[in-house]
Amino acid sequence: MKEEFWTMEETFYRELLDNLYDGVYFVDLDRRISYWNKGAEKLTGYNREEVLGRLCWDDFLTHLDDRGEQLCDTACPLLDTLNDGKVRDINVYLHHKEGHRVPVLVRMAPIHDQKRKIIGAVEIFSDNSSRVASEMKIEELEKLALLDDLTQIGNRRFMEMSLRTKMDEMNRYRSQLGVFFVDIDNFKQLNDSYGHHLGDEVLRSVAKTLSAALRPLDILCRWGGEEFVVAVGNLDGDIMAVIAERFRSLVDNSSVATGETRIEFTVSIGATITLEDDTLDSAVKRADELMYRSKEKGRNRITVG
Ligand code: GH3
Ligand code: MG
Ligand code: MG
Repeated sequence: MKEEFWTMEETFYRELLDNLYDGVYFVDLDRRISYWNKGAEKLTGYNREEVLGRLCWDDFLTHLDDRGEQLCDTACPLLDTLNDGKVRDINVYLHHKEGHRVPVLVRMAPIHDQKRKIIGAVEIFSDNSSRVASEMKIEELEKLALLDDLTQIGNRRFMEMSLRTKMDEMNRYRSQLGVFFVDIDNFKQLNDSYGHHLGDEVLRSVAKTLSAALRPLDILCRWGGEEFVVAVGNLDGDIMAVIAERFRSLVDNSSVATGETRIEFTVSIGATITLEDDTLDSAVKRADELMYRSKEKGRNRITVG
C-alpha cells in the first residue's frame, strides 16, 4: 500500500515537471544529468536519451554568460551551488542542438537528502528571448531619441518612422493594417485626486499592459499625454473588435497600488483599418474620432469603424 502511494506520488511529480514550459534537469555531485524534462528538450533541442547520464559540462550545453564568456569549464555556477548550497539566478545563453544560442534565465538550487546533505542540484531554465529583445530594443530606441522616457515604449516619432515603412508594405501586399487609438478615461481627475506621481504610475501600467497584449510585429507608442496608438499588421477578417476588446479588458482588469489601496482605471478605444490613400495622420485622426464616440457612449468602450 505504502509503496503504491509513493509510486503514485513520484508519477505525479514527474508528470508535473514534464509538463512545465520551463526546462528542468537534475545533476548528481559529479554534475551527471539524471533527469531532463520535456521543457528542456524543447528549449535545447536535445532529447532525454541524448543527455541522460552525460556530464552537464560535457561540451554540449556550453553556457555563455551575458558577456559571452564560457561558464562550464571555469566558472560553473551549478558547481558553486553543489559546493555552497546557495540558490543562484543568472542569465545565460545556452547552446541549442541546431547550433544557435538561446537566452535563458537559469535558476540553480541544491537537492538535499533527508539528513540535509547535498546530493545534487536542479537547474530550471526559461526562455528569455523577449526580455533580451526588449532590453536591446530599448537601448536602440534611446540612442535614436525614439523612446518615451516615462513609459519606456516608443514615442510618437518612433511610430511615425515605423509606420511609414509598414504602410508601404501593407499597400504593396494588399494586407490590412489596423490602427487603435487608446485614451485613458478621466485621467485628469486621477491626477487631481491622487497626484501626478500616481498618474505617471498609471501611464506606465497601461504601457506595460498594452505591450504584453501585442504580437512581435505590432507597434505601440505613447502618442502624447495619456494617449497611446497601436498599429497591428496582417489582420485577418473581422478581428479589429477582438483586438480592441482585448486591450480594453486587460486595462479594465489592471490596477496600481498606492499605500493600501488599489486604483483602477479604464481606457476608451477607437479602431480603424487603414485605406490605400491614408497617411499616418489621417488614419490616426479617424481612430481618434472613433475613440471620442467611445467616450460619448460612456467611456471604457471600443468603437470600430
Ligand atoms: P477623458 O476621459 O475625456 O479622456 O478625460 P481626461 O481627463 O483623460 O482627458 P483630459 O484631456 O482632460 O486630461 C488629460 C490629462 O493628462 C491632463 C494632463 O495633465 C494629464 N497628463 C498628460 N501627460 C501626463 C504625464 O506625463 N503624467 C501625468 N501624471 N499626467 C499627464
Ligand atoms: Mg486625451
Ligand atoms: Mg483621457
